Amino acid sequence: MLSLYDTVSRKKVPLVPLRPDRVGIYTCGPTVYRYVHIGNLRTYLLTDLLLRAVRFDGLAPFSVQNITDMGHMHQEQLAQTEDKVIAAARAAGKTAKEIAEFFTGAFFRDCRRMNFLPSDVYPRASTHVPEMIAMAKELEGKGVTYGEGGYLYFDVTKAKGYGELSGAVLGEGETAGRTDESIHRRKNRPEDFSLWLAADPGREFLWESPWGLGWPGWHIECAAMAEKYLGREFDIHVGGVDLRFPHHENSRAMAMTATGGRFALLWVHAAHLLVDGRKMSKSLSNEYTLDDLESRGVSPMDFRYHCLTLHYRTPMNFTWAAQGASAKALARLREAFSGKGETGAGGGRADGAEGFRRRFREAIGDDLNAPRALAVVHEAARSDLPGDVVRELAREWDAVLGVGLLGEVSGEGAGESAPGGEAAPAEVVGLARSRDRCRRERRFAEADALRERIREAGYDVVDGKDGAGRVRKR
Ligand SMILES: [Zn+2]
Repeated sequence: MLSLYDTVSRKKVPLVPLRPDRVGIYTCGPTVYRYVHIGNLRTYLLTDLLLRAVRFDGLAPFSVQNITDMGHMHQEQLAQTEDKVIAAARAAGKTAKEIAEFFTGAFFRDCRRMNFLPSDVYPRASTHVPEMIAMAKELEGKGVTYGEGGYLYFDVTKAKGYGELSGAVLGEGETAGRTDESIHRRKNRPEDFSLWLAADPGREFLWESPWGLGWPGWHIECAAMAEKYLGREFDIHVGGVDLRFPHHENSRAMAMTATGGRFALLWVHAAHLLVDGRKMSKSLSNEYTLDDLESRGVSPMDFRYHCLTLHYRTPMNFTWAAQGASAKALARLREAFSGKGETGAGGGRADGAEGFRRRFREAIGDDLNAPRALAVVHEAARSDLPGDVVRELAREWDAVLGVGLLGEVSGEGAGESAPGGEAAPAEVVGLARSRDRCRRERRFAEADALRERIREAGYDVVDGKDGAGRVRKR
């Protein structure tokens, strides 16, 4: 059984799924106005490891990862950004929407290169504003909001469970002193946060609402989309530790107040990644992307392996030297497994495999302890177990580690192969899976809408005899 360290109860808690048929998992996804850097990827790897561990336990994960694409960014900010890609896109007359589409594609490409299993749904914030408005109205009806002139704020003093996640205490420490932004001058206290903001000049994304033309605050995005796809209570919420406050604290307080449910039962947070002991930043030019790594000869699998050598709750200090040592270790491991003959060689007894199996499972079950699991893998590679037995172990374990222990990755994370050998993007595969589910549950209108989105992405879906749709390029 899988135990996970829960940020709210501050201890390891066994995962007991709310529903027998699925484990609901929500992950805060990327803001698509830049490339994701290796720190983001380390967090998304936590989700991937979790999905794989849940499957390894014989359970079915249902994963939702949002795409923040509605530009919590002004046109002027976009124009002023130092990012060369955005600057070039702006110069070429591209809209914020087009830029978001570009970086969403780049994000999916990085996910495939990292061998991440696709999530079941990748909801885009920009197409879920009605759900956010509905939640804001729900909160307004409960008397926990205030505001005027097109602004609606959440009063955190009336929130259920506020502070339980991050330990935030009203009026103290990091919660205080956030009133300097002009748009927040109407707030009663620094910790309160916006559910809706009035239209301001230069903003490209605006919606009509009961409070006038405007746009939703950031925190309501995840709360509303998690509720839509996972219900008022679900199993696990994942994110980087930097999102714990205020984003997660606020999402949780708001969702619990709106629905009366417990929202996520377990909160799992990935620790920071530093580069050469310093926080990544544009000014230090150390916001490395997967492309930066590849240009230095480090493959995505080398980086993935490197991340797994540390527990996800341990802050990581990325250095090229340490990354180089990990790449060598992975190469040695692959060599050891491929050097094993199909049978016989080694001469040891096959029943020794059970001990390795048990220890690997215990390590992963113990709050996803990948470094301990890797130690078992190295030991098995050096052991005198028969070659076919040890290769079978490597195959089983790679379903969790996903680094290509036998020299190749399973390819599932790259999406289902379309005829002609071209893999469909993970997003399209996710859409096809969601459509399969809708069809099984006879929600045909939703299934048709999903098919339309698959077509918009340049693919189509053909229904197989088993009832599952096969994705192919149009
Ligand atoms: Zn979020």
